[in-house]
Amino acid sequence: MQDQREMVDAVLQDTGAIKECPVHGELLDNLDSGAVEEAIAEGIRMIEGGEMSGDAEEWERRIRARMVDTPDECPLCPDPDRG
Ligand SMILES: [Zn+2]
Repeated sequence: MQDQREMVDAVLQDTGAIKECPVHGELLDNLDSGAVEEAIAEGIRMIEGGEMSGDAEEWERRIRARMVDTPDECPLCPDPDRG
């Protein structure tokens, strides 16, 4: 059975809610709220199917907390506004 903590980023990347900076590999918010909802639904399916531990409320909380912590612009890429 998968651990929720290990699955958060994988499921978010799967649905396209987060993406990697192609240069630095930093995980970035893809600004796609539909994909976030999809990741929540996908995790709940896994919990109900016995593939992942924990419960649905815990999963949703982890997903929302991850999105709050994820920047939408790579902190390592040059800022385009500064040229
Ligand atoms: Zn970058």
